[in-house]
Amino acid sequence: MKANATVWLPYAQMQTTLPPFEVQSTQGSKLLLKNGKTLIDGVASWWTACHGYNHPHIVKAIQEQAAVLPHVMMGGLVHPQATRLAERLANLLPGTLDYVFFSESGSVAVEIAMKMALQFWMNHNQPNKHRFICFENGYHGDTFFTMSVCDPIDGMHRLFQRVLPKQHCLSLPTTDTLLETFATWLKKHAHECAALLIEPLVQGAGGMKMHSPQVLQAITSLCQQHNVLVIADEIFTGFLRTGTLFAIEQAKIIPDIICLSKALTGGTLPLAATIATKPIYDAFLSNDQSKALMHGTTFMGNALGCAAANASLDLFESEPRLKQVHAIQTMLCEAFSNLEDVPGVTAVRVKGAIGAIELARALTPSEMNRFKEQCVNDGIWCRPIQNVVYTTPALTIEPAQLSYLTQSIVKQVLAWSTLFCHA
Ligand SMILES: *Cc1c(COP(=O)(O)O)cnc(C)c1O
Repeated sequence: MKANATVWLPYAQMQTTLPPFEVQSTQGSKLLLKNGKTLIDGVASWWTACHGYNHPHIVKAIQEQAAVLPHVMMGGLVHPQATRLAERLANLLPGTLDYVFFSESGSVAVEIAMKMALQFWMNHNQPNKHRFICFENGYHGDTFFTMSVCDPIDGMHRLFQRVLPKQHCLSLPTTDTLLETFATWLKKHAHECAALLIEPLVQGAGGMKMHSPQVLQAITSLCQQHNVLVIADEIFTGFLRTGTLFAIEQAKIIPDIICLSKALTGGTLPLAATIATKPIYDAFLSNDQSKALMHGTTFMGNALGCAAANASLDLFESEPRLKQVHAIQTMLCEAFSNLEDVPGVTAVRVKGAIGAIELARALTPSEMNRFKEQCVNDGIWCRPIQNVVYTTPALTIEPAQLSYLTQSIVKQVLAWSTLFCHA
């Protein structure tokens, strides 16, 4: 055995970060650690495990599919789970969002959406429309092209600015005045812009920042007026997280392209989808081979992933997820509203099954370690983003578990507030 073999953790300074807690098994909303401790999961594994862990219906679907057809390449082949999933996603989405391109991760789904947008304009003989519009606090992935549309200053990719393509990162126009400024800006720059990317209603990884359906609607309609495509990145918000199956429903908008991943397979297997409308798809139809969408990944449309996603959609139909989201929203509002007046807390935001507490400043690395350790000692799992402590539990979390989770979070925030005031 080599002594140095290491699992290199994401976004972690390996010299100072806490060693990872080893999870032996999962169950409902619980993580069972090797050291015997049980944690109530407040994050649902980066927002994926919407039905809780190990839901028997999804487990069975994956097992059955593994015995029949675990995977085939999509170059020229397809399988019933992919066909069925494409049909079901199309049926759940508005307008002509019917054309489903599968991949294995959210970042790649966004890459594909950006490639579709660029090639859409090339195929329409407008290659100068090649820039993207995105928003401060936005997050769309960690691959190189998606890094170019993440928040360039507060995001995680500042280091790479020099090699990234230049895009237009604007502040979200959340007031009428800002919307007017945005409209003027768009009029001037639309000729060089392929598409705008937005996380509808909630910017997740950027700190659970929320905007209204009216703002989303206004942005979309301005883009449509000025021939700029709209890419809705619902990788975080999709599948009831914000209280509707998709966040775009609340603004009654139809984007040109929508990206889905995270909760798509109920937190079991990596799968993503980039779904386009008919005008986008039609722009690729031609006798000219060079107008075809030039993308394909080895494991795209993986049959186990598609089987898991189909089983997850069954559960949205057969189990009371909407009621559960509403109950979670009510409990989060009650649990966190008192924190608004606590020194050092600058905002409390709740939408659907998302509860966020914004602090006056980012936790220092040692405060972050302390925070996480105290959560684990208390029996919960919670991973703040810079200055935002949040929870996005499984939609199936039991009321008693949620109540324990939120009380514990409140306790940790109050402890931090005391330190903050004495500093
Ligand atoms: C997580 C996330 C991504 C990236 O997905 P990965 O599967 O981590 O590559 C992109 N956009 C949004 C909104 C996300 O939340």
